[in-house]
Amino acid sequence: MTNEQTVEKPKPLKRGMLDNVLEQFNSAADKIDLNPNVRKILSITNTEIIIHFPVRMDNGEVEVFTGYRVQHNNALGPYKGGLRYHPTVDIDAARALAMWMTWKTSLAGLPYGGAKGGIQIDPSIYSKGELERITRRFTYALGENIGPEHDIPAPDVNTNDQTMAWIADTYMSTKSTSERSKNQHVVTGKPVGSGGLEGRDRATGYGVYLTIKFWSEKNNETLKGKKFIVQGFGNVGYWAAHFLENEGALLVGVQDAFGSVQNQKGITVEDLFNYGKANNGSIVGFPEASAMEGKDFFALDCDICIPAALGNQITKDNARSIKASLIAEGANGPTDVEGEKILIERGITIIPDIMCNSGGVIGSYFEWLQNRNGELWQMDEILEKLEKKLRTTFKKVTAYSEENNIDMRTAAFSIAIARIEKAYILRGIFP
Ligand code: GLU
Repeated sequence: MTNEQTVEKPKPLKRGMLDNVLEQFNSAADKIDLNPNVRKILSITNTEIIIHFPVRMDNGEVEVFTGYRVQHNNALGPYKGGLRYHPTVDIDAARALAMWMTWKTSLAGLPYGGAKGGIQIDPSIYSKGELERITRRFTYALGENIGPEHDIPAPDVNTNDQTMAWIADTYMSTKSTSERSKNQHVVTGKPVGSGGLEGRDRATGYGVYLTIKFWSEKNNETLKGKKFIVQGFGNVGYWAAHFLENEGALLVGVQDAFGSVQNQKGITVEDLFNYGKANNGSIVGFPEASAMEGKDFFALDCDICIPAALGNQITKDNARSIKASLIAEGANGPTDVEGEKILIERGITIIPDIMCNSGGVIGSYFEWLQNRNGELWQMDEILEKLEKKLRTTFKKVTAYSEENNIDMRTAAFSIAIARIEKAYILRGIFP
């Protein structure tokens, strides 16, 4: 018997979201011949905050959590971007997501920069009371690192209007009585009735749907009868599916954190939503569809694929099996650079995240303006304004991509980066 030793081969390093966003940035920067000094500035984040903070749990014990806020750039205005509660939140994820926010707000023509943050936590294992204390303690620890004219958080993965209400209340509690109400716009995505914007809940999903609609109109196609699949059935996935279904498109597959279901004859969006609500937020076991292997999800037969969950979902491992001819990126960074190369080779169109899911931050901007000006806007007016803004961006991006014979992502990045470059060139770099 030989004395064999099993030597594990070193695993190739997994490309992270930060590698992806930097590669996307550099390829657009090359295309527009970005000023080298501005490239240096934008290649790195302005400020990175890591906070370890203690919170008392329901059982009386204290747990220490790690929270992040990364502020990438504020050349165009205050930092803006969500807070996510997820085990994958770390400094590199926050950096990457903050950079995407900078490009997203710039592309949308908003007076904002980009930031992102969150807590490395699986929120499903904590009680509502614990989540409230965690959120409030994190807000308190962030202190003046956030602020209505400085850095304005919003919901993201696993955070919602309730989370934002806790943040607003905690932040405002630290102000003197007369200053309190002036600080309501320290976060956006608050509940309607507590400074929130009518329709902010659906703004991201509505925007995803709109960009798909614009694309099909541009190609003289109709959404009626088109089959689509959605990864992630949270706020973004659900609302995008809702509006697509209204337009006559057919939902044929859904994947969430717990499992995947499919039905080529169609899944009724509202039924699935109600089932999920009654089933601890999971779609598993939905009776109108059959369960399927998660790894085969993206290979489902369909016309449109909407990744609306986490980053790095479409990669070289599954890009070849995708059947959809259109990918609409509801999530941030769902397609990695290698996966994208394959999709482009195969002639599959990608509506890039920084345009596709920008309805959310545009809605946030409206909420911020509403609070700042002491106004209350109506739903119709809001959705109309959102559509107008997105249509303008869509036209710009498609025109730029055609004129320069480049994909929509590179076009979107180029427009976004050029706007920031202009701001730096006009005002100069101190000292
Ligand atoms: N979390 C959303 C995003 O990734 C919204 C950000 C915001 O409204 O500030 O775009």
